[in-house]
Amino acid sequence: MPLDVEKIRKDFPILQQQVYGKPLVYLDNAATTQKPQVVIDKIAECYRTINSNIHRGVHYLSERSSEAYENSRTAVQKFINAKFPFEIIFTRGTTEAINLVAFSFGEKFIREGDEIIISAMEHHSNIVPWQMVCERKNAKLRIIPMNEEGELIVDELDRLISNRTKIIAVTHISNSLGTINPIKEIISKAHSHKIPVLIDGAQSLQHTKIDVQELDCDFYAFSGHKIYGPAGVGVLYGKEEWLNHIPPYQGGGDMIHNVTFEKTVYNKLPFKFEAGTANYIDAIGLATAIEYIQNIGIYDIAMQEHQLMQYAATKLSSIDGLKFYGTAKNKAGVISFLLQDIHPYDTGMILDKLGIAVRTGNHCTQPVMDWYKIPGTVRASFAFYNTLQEIDVLCDGLQKVKEMMG
Ligand code: PMP
Repeated sequence: MPLDVEKIRKDFPILQQQVYGKPLVYLDNAATTQKPQVVIDKIAECYRTINSNIHRGVHYLSERSSEAYENSRTAVQKFINAKFPFEIIFTRGTTEAINLVAFSFGEKFIREGDEIIISAMEHHSNIVPWQMVCERKNAKLRIIPMNEEGELIVDELDRLISNRTKIIAVTHISNSLGTINPIKEIISKAHSHKIPVLIDGAQSLQHTKIDVQELDCDFYAFSGHKIYGPAGVGVLYGKEEWLNHIPPYQGGGDMIHNVTFEKTVYNKLPFKFEAGTANYIDAIGLATAIEYIQNIGIYDIAMQEHQLMQYAATKLSSIDGLKFYGTAKNKAGVISFLLQDIHPYDTGMILDKLGIAVRTGNHCTQPVMDWYKIPGTVRASFAFYNTLQEIDVLCDGLQKVKEMMG
C-alpha cells in the first residue's frame, strides 16, 4: 500500500522547520536519517525513569535498564533474523563493528602472505581497518573491480580468490553510487571456498529486508543513526561459531568472567565483545526505531523509496549538463551526479541556501572518485519521508545553480 507520507512526516519534528526562510528539504539520508518523535521520547523517558548502569547492580533501576538493554538485543536479533540474541554485539556503529572484526579476526586468523578481499566501492571504514591488519600482519588487500556503471565485476572473484584468501568484506549498498551489490552470489562463491564474508550493511537495512540466516553472511555491520535510531550505537552481527573463535577487541569491565593479576577469563557472548559501559540508552532507542520501521513496513518503505529514485532519476536526467555517477541496474537510496563542470561544493552551497540539504565530496569513498577521476559528486539520498515535490524543489534548485555558475 502506498505510504501516507504527509502523515509520516509529522512523526519527524526536524522536518517541520524552515532553513534560511525556506522549508527544509532533507536529502542527506545516507549520511544520517532523522529521528521520529517516538525515538526522541524513548531516550528522554529512559533518562527520566530507568537510567542506571547495566548488568552491575542488584537494585531496581539497574535491573530495569539491563532488561530494556537486553530486550533491545532481542529486537535487533528478530529484525535481522539472527539465530541467537548473543550473536548481536552492540558497538558504536558500523565503523567500530568492522574494526572489531578486522582486529579480532585478523589477530586469530591472518598470517603473513594471507589475503583479504574488499571491493572497489567500499567506504573508508571498510578499507582502512583491513589495511591496518595487512600492515600488522604483512598481508595483502585485493580488490573486486567495478565497471563504468558502478557495478562490481563479480566474476573477477574467481580470479581473486586464492588459498591465501582469509576473509571477504563488501558493502551491500554503496553509499556514493547507490549500487546494490549481489551479496548472495558473493557469499555463496566465498563459502564454496570456505571463506567467511563480512557485509557492510550501513546503507542496506533501512532500505531492504535483511535476513542474515537467509543471506548466510558470517558478519553483518550497521549503524543505528542510519536507520532512524540514535547516533553512537550500532551492531555487529556475527555467527556464533566465529564470535566464539575470535578474541575480544577491547578489555575492561563487563567483558570478563574472572580477573586476577595472573590471568583473566573472558565473559561469554555477547559480553566478551562489549567492554566498558555500553551505550545502553541509545541501544534502547534503537529498538524503538526498529519498532517504528516495522510498524510502517519495510516492504512499503522500499516501494516508496523506489518510486522516489525513479522519479528523481527521470527528472534529473532532463537537466542539461547533468551527469550521473553510478548507473547500475540495481540501485537504492542514493543518486550521485555532477552539474556541468561546476565544483560539487559550489552546487551544494547554493542548494543549501535554498533549504536543500545534499552532501558533496567524496563521501568517504575516495577510491571511487579516483576511479572516475573526479574530485567528488553531489549526492541526493532518500528516505521514505521524502516527497516527489521535494525532488521538484531539488531540480529547480539545480537550474538556479546553473544560472548562477554556468
Ligand atoms: N559503510 C558505509 C557504506 C557507510 O555509508 C557508512 C556511513 N557513511 C559507514 C560504513 C560508516 O558508518 P558509521 O560512520 O555510522 O560508523
